[in-house]
Amino acid sequence: MAKIRVIVNGAKGKMGIETVKAIMAEDDMELVASTDVGDDLSEKIINNKAEVVVDFTVPQAALGNAKKIISAEASAVIGTTGLSNENLKELGSLCAKHKVNCLVAPNFAVGAVLMMKFAAEAVKYLPHAEIIEFHHEKKLDKPSGTAIKTAHLMEKDVPIHSVRLPGLVAHQEVIFGGVGQTLTIRHDSINRESFMPGVILAIRKIKTLKGLVYGLEKIL
Ligand code: NAP
Repeated sequence: MAKIRVIVNGAKGKMGIETVKAIMAEDDMELVASTDVGDDLSEKIINNKAEVVVDFTVPQAALGNAKKIISAEASAVIGTTGLSNENLKELGSLCAKHKVNCLVAPNFAVGAVLMMKFAAEAVKYLPHAEIIEFHHEKKLDKPSGTAIKTAHLMEKDVPIHSVRLPGLVAHQEVIFGGVGQTLTIRHDSINRESFMPGVILAIRKIKTLKGLVYGLEKIL
């Protein structure tokens, strides 16, 4: 069977390095190029006949990169955070125009997806809730994409607190308060390998999706 031809964009970054390693360990996919800041992404996609591009870059480049990937008629797996609802709509239209798919997932860790699902369930019974998200000090955006997505799934204006400290990777608590009790749902990514099964699954499934899909839970 032909291997899936993949490019990792942001390949020199923390997530990019881990993604390159994960793809190289799979038999059904081939890393046809690695790109980073300064590379001509559109040219690399076309010249290497890439079918899927995984993007882990920086929030301010996320929309531009996604548009380049889709316009070059490759499917996009976007892990970079910072895309707004407006941006997602724009990408959805571009996907329809070019007949490719785009998966945007603010968190590729399966445990984080479960944390969001459990929080959406718990808020029905304990409506007073707040989110605390903890990340390494180099994370550029706040609140995190995961916290925004969690609040969105809880269908409430949930206050979000952001902590940025060395030593952390990616962690989140959703705390519920009721009469004489609290409930805490917590997820910890203790290293970046935690995101890789989700990224690999997205690369395998992206061609079977329809247009723009937001959230890893849609493909689990
Ligand atoms: P990072 O270590 O800063 O890596 C980002 C890489 O992208 C760097 O090598 C950077 O180069 C490069 N870059 C910057 N602008 C670019 C452009 N226009 N085109 C191509 N490459 C560009 O960051 P990270 O920790 O890997 O995180 C990357 C993104 O993924 C962040 O938005 C983060 O929040 C997100 N993230 C998502 C998940 C998830 O599960 N979805 C998990 C963890 C992190 P320079 O350093 O030279 O600027």
